[in-house]
Amino acid sequence: MPRTALRHPRSWIAPISTGCVYFAVASLALSMSRFEGGLAFIWAANAFLMAELLTSRTAHWTRTIIACGIASAAATAWVGMGAIAALPMAAINILESLIVVVICRWFVADRLVTGAIRPLVVFVIALCGAANILAGLGAAWVASTLTPVSFAHAFVQWYTGHVLGGLICAPILIMAFQGEFRRWLDEASMQARVEAVLLLALFALTTFHVFHWARYPLLFAPLLPLVLIAFRVGHMGSALAIILLAAIGGQATMAGIGPLAWVADGTGERIQFFQFYLALSFLLCMPVAVELAARKRLFQMLQQSEARYRAMAEYSGDVVLNIGVDGVIQYASPSATEQIGCAPDLLVGQEAANLVDPQDRDVVIAAYRRALAQPGSVHKVEFRPLVMADGLEWCEMVSRAMIDERGLPSGVVSMIRDMSRHKARQHALQQVAARDSLTGADSRRAFLEKLDREIARAAMGARSSLFLIDIDHFKSVNDRFGHGAGDRVLSAFVERLRLGLRTGDSIGRLGGEEFAILLANSDIDRSSMMCERLRALLVDPILVEASVAITITFSAGLVELDGASDRSAMLEAADKALYRAKHSGRNCLRLAA
Ligand code: GH3
Ligand code: MG
Ligand code: MG
Repeated sequence: MPRTALRHPRSWIAPISTGCVYFAVASLALSMSRFEGGLAFIWAANAFLMAELLTSRTAHWTRTIIACGIASAAATAWVGMGAIAALPMAAINILESLIVVVICRWFVADRLVTGAIRPLVVFVIALCGAANILAGLGAAWVASTLTPVSFAHAFVQWYTGHVLGGLICAPILIMAFQGEFRRWLDEASMQARVEAVLLLALFALTTFHVFHWARYPLLFAPLLPLVLIAFRVGHMGSALAIILLAAIGGQATMAGIGPLAWVADGTGERIQFFQFYLALSFLLCMPVAVELAARKRLFQMLQQSEARYRAMAEYSGDVVLNIGVDGVIQYASPSATEQIGCAPDLLVGQEAANLVDPQDRDVVIAAYRRALAQPGSVHKVEFRPLVMADGLEWCEMVSRAMIDERGLPSGVVSMIRDMSRHKARQHALQQVAARDSLTGADSRRAFLEKLDREIARAAMGARSSLFLIDIDHFKSVNDRFGHGAGDRVLSAFVERLRLGLRTGDSIGRLGGEEFAILLANSDIDRSSMMCERLRALLVDPILVEASVAITITFSAGLVELDGASDRSAMLEAADKALYRAKHSGRNCLRLAA
C-alpha cells in the first residue's frame, strides 16, 4: 500500500476515540485475565495501537501515542496493578508498539503488514523479537517488584500474552483499517461471497463442535476448513476465520469447557495454551493466503502485460519473431506477410538464419548469441535479408532474451524493421559529406581516410605517392577578378587535373586552394613524371568568362608513402617539400627529404 494512501485523521476526536478503545480493550483484558494478580494473560490493546499507527501518517502518531499512553495508565491504575504501576506500564506498552511499528516502516518500504509475505515476516520478527523481549523484561521487573509473581513467570505471561495478542489481532485490524474487507465485498462475485459464507459457516460449526460437543480433543479438526478458506477465500477469509476461532474457542476456554479443559488446571495456563493454538492456526493459514494473493496479483499483471504485448506484436509495423534457443522461429507476427513478403505460417519452424543474406549471417548469429548470453540487455544488428519483398534491402533486428522460471534464457524476442530507406538516405548523406561541394574533389575527411587505407596498403608492399599542391598567387586571382571568378578557377583546376589522373588515383581538397593527390601504385619517379603531365594540363588559360582567361600554376611537394609512418608524418613530409617548392620560386615540384 503506498504511503500516500495512509489515513490522516484530522481532529482530536480520532486520537480520543483511539484512546477510549485502547482503554476499553486493556481494561477488559485486565479485568478478565489477571488470573495470578500480576500481568494480563490476553493483550490485544497494543495490537490495536500498532494497527492504528501503521495505517496512519507519522504526523498523527504523537496524538495517538499520547491518547493510548493515558488510556494504558488509566487502565493499569483502575483495573490492573494500581496507580504506582500506571506510568511505567504505559511507557512499556508504548515502547513495544513503537518498536514494532518503526521496524515495519523501516524494512517495508511501501506496503503494510498484510497482502504480501515479506511485510508479514518483518512484522512477526519485530513483534516476537526486540519489541517483546525488551518490553517483557521491563514489565516483568515492574510486576515482580509490585506483586508476588516471580520475574520469570511475569516475563512468560507478558511475552505470550502480547506476542499472541499482536499476532492474532494486528493483521486483522490493519486489514480492517485499510478498508480491505469492504474492498473485498465490493469486488467479490456473488458466487465467491456465497462460497466464503459457506466455508466460514463450516469452519464455525467445526470449531463449535470441537470446543463444545466433541468427546475427544479434536483441536486439529478446524485446521482443514481453515486451510480451505486460505486457498479459496484468501487472507481476508483467513482473518475472519481466526476471529471466529478466537471467539468460539476463547469463550469455551474461559468457561472451562472444551479440549483445553483437559490440558491444564489453571485458567491462565489454559488461556496461554489457547493463544498458542490460535497463533499457530494463524501462522498456518495467513502466509499461505498472503502468498496466494500475491501470486494472483502477479498473474493478473502477467495477463495484462501479455494482452498489451500481443496487441503490440499484432498491430505493429515491425515483424516480431520468437526464436527458440535452437535458432528456430516459434512465432511470427502477422505483419511478416506485408513487411518481408512471407506468411507467418511459413516462417514458423524455419531456422531464423535462413532469412539472412549469407554475407551477414555471421553477425546476425553473433548478435543472437549475445542476446542469449546477456538476457537483461537489448542487442541490435543490421543485415541484408534473403527473402523477397519489394525494395527491402536492409533490415534492423532488435533482440532481447526471454527468461524461463529458472532464470535461464528460453529464446529471443526479435523485432525486425525495414531499414532500406534509412540506409539509402544514410548512404546519400555519406556521399555528400565525402565530396567538396565547390570542386567535386574528395572532402578533406574522405581523402584522409583514403590516405590511411593507402598507407596500410603501402605497409603490405604497395608503392604509392602523395602530392600536396598549392595554387601559386591565388590571392591575386581573387583580387583581380573577384571571388566568383576565383571559385570557377578552383573548380576548373580540379577538372583539368582529373584529366591526368588514372581511375585508382584520388584528388582531395584539403582547404582553400590547397589540394592533395594520391597516386596509387606509383613510385617517386613515376609520380614526378605525372606531376609534369599535370602541370602541362594547366598551360592553357582557364576561361572564366568570354573575355576573362586566367592562367595559373601550382607548387607541389611529393612523398612516397612509407608503410611504417602514419598519416600526419606523411602529410608533414609533403608539406615541407611544398614549402621548399614555394621558396624555390613556385611553379615547381620538390621531393620530400
Ligand atoms: P602562395 O603562392 O604563397 O600560395 O600565394 P597565395 O596567394 O595562393 O596564398 P595565400 O595563402 O596568401 O592566399 C590564398 C588565397 O586563396 C586566399 C583566399 O582568399 C583564397 N581562397 C581560399 N579559398 C578560396 C575559395 O574557396 N574561393 C576563392 N575564390 N578563393 C579562395
Ligand atoms: Mg595556400
Ligand atoms: Mg597558394
